[in-house]
Amino acid sequence: MSYDQIDVPEAGEKITLADEETGELNVPETPIIPIIYGDGIGSDVGPAAQKVLDAAAEATGRSIAWMRLYAGGSAREKYDENLPQETVDAIREHRVAIKGPLTTPVGSGFRSLNVALRKKLDLYANVRPTYHLEGVPSPVKNPSAMDMVTFRENTEDVYAGIEWEAGTDEVQQVKEFVEDEMGATGVIHDGPVGIGIKPITEFGSKRLIREAINYAIANGRPTVTLVHKGNIMKFTEGAFRDWGYELAEEEYGDNVLTEDELWEEHDGEQPEGTVVVQDRIADNMLQQILTRTDQYDVIATMNLNGDYMSDAAGAQIGGLGIAPGANYGHGRCLAEPVHGSAPKYAGENKVNPTAMILSGREMLDYLGWDDAAELVRDAVETTISEGNVTYDLHRQIEGGTKLATTEFAEAVVENIEQLS
Ligand code: NAP
Repeated sequence: MSYDQIDVPEAGEKITLADEETGELNVPETPIIPIIYGDGIGSDVGPAAQKVLDAAAEATGRSIAWMRLYAGGSAREKYDENLPQETVDAIREHRVAIKGPLTTPVGSGFRSLNVALRKKLDLYANVRPTYHLEGVPSPVKNPSAMDMVTFRENTEDVYAGIEWEAGTDEVQQVKEFVEDEMGATGVIHDGPVGIGIKPITEFGSKRLIREAINYAIANGRPTVTLVHKGNIMKFTEGAFRDWGYELAEEEYGDNVLTEDELWEEHDGEQPEGTVVVQDRIADNMLQQILTRTDQYDVIATMNLNGDYMSDAAGAQIGGLGIAPGANYGHGRCLAEPVHGSAPKYAGENKVNPTAMILSGREMLDYLGWDDAAELVRDAVETTISEGNVTYDLHRQIEGGTKLATTEFAEAVVENIEQLS
């Protein structure tokens, strides 16, 4: 495929699909990997992460052929639009990519480019690992108890974008339909109203929960917790929970147990290699991750719960400068940090690139480059525990050296060289 505005690297080969059914990939030694720096601090953390990922690839006998793509402000300059078709096509074609944050102005009329990208590429699982790195300051007493991976459904729920603005003809029509046709009278107050719809499908729920269970099995994680508000939203969040249990029974047989089965059939002793599927109500879960942190491993939940919960969990292990993420589809991965574009710090060479670097680590993991992925984690941890940190961590620790974004990346590269 040729592109108008994108330079295709001369070296490097495309990643291809090895198995249509499982989504397994063929990864060459020098894969072409698209990267979007993004808006605001994206042009600080993007190049910093590239440097570290290059070093980890090189240290493990590989290399990455980067392909720069554009979205957000940089795309407006080049293409006069926010999300060019070329960008979407190039990610689709190359299967594994990484992006920095994109700005979504509040109430500006344009919907989130992140949500649009995830929908266009059908990246249905937003995966947010939260683990503590030694030396990272935390507001809780025992941050190392946190080692959780949240699978957040990415395409449905109140984030699906089915909503109507107050004062429009459309919202009036929806209100009348709900009241006159569906009999929901006396619920919506008189006067201006905005209405949104919350779709939760069996298809969307099961493919997300399947991804979470497969991850737990592949990584030796003992539990998958379905987080929902099914006590209140019975036919959406309650259905998510029910479909989760149904999937576990239909597709995994004895390898996956419910909590009841664990007690009734095994006296609470979990057999080696099995995964226990359990469920928790979302508000309870938000306090449980603080009070019983070490009891939770893999979480599967819907879009809104997942957004809140993974940020709260992220705060326990050091906050937004640290928290990595990735979006998975079938045989596709788009890694991205949890944080936004923090426009006030853009171009200041100040912010923490760790979240972007560790998102890159998730991407390396997805490629099956486990050794490179571990090297990145170890080198970041060593750098931080040596007290070499950016402003955000520096203001929370005693002593230590405050580094610029580029200096922090260089320190991580040095540690990669030392550790390999
Ligand atoms: P934000 O950009 O994440 O920044 C909020 C605060 O978090 C910053 O002021 C800073 O705190 C801290 N922070 C974020 N990234 C950091 C880093 N790498 N290193 C150190 N500290 C960091 O959130 P926001 O201000 O709510 O959002 C700004 C824009 O980003 C919005 O347009 C939003 O829609 C967008 N956004 C995009 C994504 C995405 O692309 N995936 C995600 C979230 C938000 P201090 O000032 O206290 O140091």
